[in-house]
Amino acid sequence: MLKYILFDLDETLYPASSGLMPAIGERMRLYLEQRYHLDSERAHELQKRYWLQYGTTLRGLMLEHEIDPQDYLDYVHDVEVSQFLQPDERLREILANIPFEKVIMTNADAPHANRVLARLGIADQFTRIFDIVFMEFECKPARGAYERVLRALNVRGDECILIEDTARNLASARELGIQTILLLNGHHAFNQPSTWLPDPASHSHNTECPPDANVCIEKIYKVADAIQQLIPSKISP
Ligand SMILES: [Mg+2]
Repeated sequence: MLKYILFDLDETLYPASSGLMPAIGERMRLYLEQRYHLDSERAHELQKRYWLQYGTTLRGLMLEHEIDPQDYLDYVHDVEVSQFLQPDERLREILANIPFEKVIMTNADAPHANRVLARLGIADQFTRIFDIVFMEFECKPARGAYERVLRALNVRGDECILIEDTARNLASARELGIQTILLLNGHHAFNQPSTWLPDPASHSHNTECPPDANVCIEKIYKVADAIQQLIPSKISP
């Protein structure tokens, strides 16, 4: 029986076009430039390599440089969320009508998640936030990240649905029996986070639904319909 809906946070609960993640990506680059005395291009390369190799830039920094993760998290998330996001009453209503417990599972930290949820006006829709600190920095797409969340919720994978905008985070969830909904919100659905994007022309608009996704949607506003598709007999309209 379906018990929980696990929501990714960034660029899932608000559109990638908001510009928030590129602003955070800029902070990541600045962090690398300042701490390691790199020029902007080298910092960008390092950021990409870590993301590809380790799941997040932070994980790469921790494994290769033993940095203080909290120092990094505070630095990169030091952006004014309200400049990028607006309260989203429509999303709030949709979430409120989903008759399952909703939680956040994010590779960001809880203070950032709280700021985003508060700004969107949807904080009260989620009962828990599983952040990168909870995952002990073993972030998505690591299978261990999902195992940790399932353990904390005391459920099996097949009792959960995951909503994500990053396609590479789906496979390990599926291995654990979690059903997946992929938000195809534009340029980086498959491999590339928008935190890398200084050049809009380099965006490849990917609208194909990959095999690891049970359902794909183009707007978060379709999330309730997608959940319904996955459990057709469980919810009657
Ligand atoms: Mg995301």
